[in-house]
Amino acid sequence: MLDSELHQIIEDDHILAVVDQIVERCDSLASFSDCDKGLTRLFCSESMKKAHGRLGEWFRAIDMDSRLDAVGNLIGTRSSSQITSEANRPVFMIGSHLDTVINAGRFDGALGVMLGMGVAELLHKAKIDLKFDLEIVGFSEEEGIRYSFPFVGSLGMTGDLTAEDLNRTDQDSISMRQALDAFGCEVKSIESTSYRQRNLVGFLEAHIEQAVSLQEDNLSVGVVTAIAGQTRADIRFVGEAGHAGTVPHDRRKDALAAAAELILEIEEIGQQTDGLFATVGYIEALPGISNVISAQTDLRLDLRHASDEIRNEAYEKIKSAIKAIAESRNITGEIVSEQFNLATQMDGQLTEQLLCGVENVGQARKTMVSGAGHDAMIMARVAQTCMLFIRCTDGISHHPSEFATREDIEVALRVMVDALIRISDSVESDLKN
Ligand SMILES: [Zn+2]
Repeated sequence: MLDSELHQIIEDDHILAVVDQIVERCDSLASFSDCDKGLTRLFCSESMKKAHGRLGEWFRAIDMDSRLDAVGNLIGTRSSSQITSEANRPVFMIGSHLDTVINAGRFDGALGVMLGMGVAELLHKAKIDLKFDLEIVGFSEEEGIRYSFPFVGSLGMTGDLTAEDLNRTDQDSISMRQALDAFGCEVKSIESTSYRQRNLVGFLEAHIEQAVSLQEDNLSVGVVTAIAGQTRADIRFVGEAGHAGTVPHDRRKDALAAAAELILEIEEIGQQTDGLFATVGYIEALPGISNVISAQTDLRLDLRHASDEIRNEAYEKIKSAIKAIAESRNITGEIVSEQFNLATQMDGQLTEQLLCGVENVGQARKTMVSGAGHDAMIMARVAQTCMLFIRCTDGISHHPSEFATREDIEVALRVMVDALIRISDSVESDLKN
């Protein structure tokens, strides 16, 4: 569909009115906070319940069914009248998360849900019937603040939330299972939440970029082709404690100095490898006294790249560096624990539909890799998945000053509705073939 065709179906006035509504609704959701000051909305909290109440009203106002699933996701469904069967109805889902970090901004997560709502609003106003049911989802827990465990909502939808996960407790010793029960979720029927057996045609997540590449390129939106894989490792150097005023330098076994050397080497590996992010964000030196040489220093590494192969190569280099630094200082250096998440590729066809949408609104095609994890990464396990990034001012997120302009939100909305109508058309032609 060309932009001109989209204009014939959906009037500009409608689009602008919906953009206003999206911004107002992001503000409205931001008023539901667990704290008096600033925005903090955690998994299964009172403020989440209120946000769900409001979102449910918005769903019902345009004849969508609203339901809470077993893991606290709120889902609105716009049924297609073109599908007569009740069983295995094709579904396309658009969504993002409704939970926030502590002292958050109002766009991270919420904007993706409100853009999905905006698409549903436009289709409703223009009386456009798609070839599948459209579901808008507000995921319950993506940030992982309450249980130090992210992606609860999307993991529930892929059927990957385990009994062990549900037994995790928060700082008040309330288990995830208890929190869901108290929130009104049917945890017993958690299997019904999974979309593995459902006819899920695709999943689309829109999200603020949380970095500056769109701002630097002066573009409103970009299309994500992959979500970076990640290696996390806890590294430990063990040397020998000693008096800072008496042990000569050639006899020292300084674990902290070894760590410092490694940190700089990791930074250099990051700088020299295109697209690699290599970070040591945590350090603890023991005994941690200014006049004692450190006997033990612990570090935490975070390594990300869109290619698993390049990330693994970098990790091997870091492991060699740990060994070399430890040997040269006559101390021990080891990896205490490690965790790997593979990179997630977005679906080629859906990504192309988004890129066509970007072209149709007159913007340059821009593809990018997401360094941060998103629900889309989990949903890709059960559906063809695509992702749209929206420019955010100075790349700021997880902060009250997080901001996306009305103009950029309008571009995102046009791209999404344009792509979705074409995706619906392609489903029809698939059926004919
Ligand atoms: Zn987010």
